[in-house]
Amino acid sequence: MLVLGIETTCDETAAAVVRLDADGEGSVLSNVVLSQVAEHAAYGGVVPEIAARAHVEALDHIIERALAEAKTPIRALDAVAAAAGPGLIGGVIVGLTTAKALALVLGKPLIAVNHLEAHALTPRLTDRVPFPYLLLLASGGHTQLVAVRGLGDYVRLGTTIDDAIGEAFDKTAKLLSLPYPGGPAVEQAALAGDPLRFSFPRPMQGRPEPNFSLSGLKTAVRIEASRIAPVTDQDVADLCASFQAAVVDMIVDRTRAGLRRFRDVAGQPSCLVVAGGVAANHAIRRGLQRLGAEAGLRIVTPPQALCTDNGAMIAWAGAERLLAGLTDGLDTSPRARWALDPTAAAAGKKA
Ligand code: ATP
Ligand code: MG
Ligand code: FE
Repeated sequence: MLVLGIETTCDETAAAVVRLDADGEGSVLSNVVLSQVAEHAAYGGVVPEIAARAHVEALDHIIERALAEAKTPIRALDAVAAAAGPGLIGGVIVGLTTAKALALVLGKPLIAVNHLEAHALTPRLTDRVPFPYLLLLASGGHTQLVAVRGLGDYVRLGTTIDDAIGEAFDKTAKLLSLPYPGGPAVEQAALAGDPLRFSFPRPMQGRPEPNFSLSGLKTAVRIEASRIAPVTDQDVADLCASFQAAVVDMIVDRTRAGLRRFRDVAGQPSCLVVAGGVAANHAIRRGLQRLGAEAGLRIVTPPQALCTDNGAMIAWAGAERLLAGLTDGLDTSPRARWALDPTAAAAGKKA
């Protein structure tokens, strides 16, 4: 089956065509992503109104390109999937409404995909990962450890109590006058730095509940930076290296705690999947590889283009849902907030 996927929840306008064969094998026929990074760079973060307008301008062309690159006539599609949340509501409305119009015109099913579910299922597109597995989702907006037990069956084991990990990279970059997005800039600067020069805190270390906390670490960087004047390139490199080392230690420790919790709710995981833009970070990957070796667990990181926001992950989640007979009505509403695990949402924890 052929599914078109549309992603507009944040600052990427994206569309893709994915095929799911009868034997469960998935393939990406096209994956077109237009990043709005340049539009938001001047503000050091995503501006919702600018994002929504940019999605309106770009989406038609992006969909046309995705269909053309996939050499798929629009009538050959079996379904149209769009991210229906969680995310910036203006963008979500653009993507979901476009998907509804296409589904209506084509007479094909609409699949309203949870953006987080799409991140969670992506490793099954490239690596055919079996359920259950542990997911570490780390991006600019999300930091979660999730037990993926089956399609639509997710238990959130832990999350951040303040900033997301990617957000902490972005804020640290901003206060050190490094470019946006901050993750790649901090990682690059850290290459030339001394990770031992500053001993930043390792928040939540050793706690049994697998939650994260980043804001204290970010503040510690600000305090150390304010003590140095003038701040040289070497100081910036050392601050970045020390910050990154603290983040890696925390991620490894928190994921270890998540693994323990996982066994209580889902048994033995088939692997640990790392997704979201932060998964690009090599120091974090190395830290998790060490944890994997220690725990006898395979670490799976989908290719970078599928780790950051994209249309293929939406199309793939749509295909998995379509196969399971899970389609949505044209009256489906866009959702700014949409927890993967309804019990965690009911408990009032932050997404
Ligand atoms: P969402 O949270 O909805 O998935 P997003 O746009 O914030 O949306 P992504 O596009 O997946 O998420 O990832 C972007 C984030 O990843 C940014 O915060 C960026 O700084 C961070 N990031 C990217 N590369 C790196 C890196 N090498 N090291 C650390 N963080 C990185
Ligand atoms: Mg993004
Ligand atoms: Fe995302």
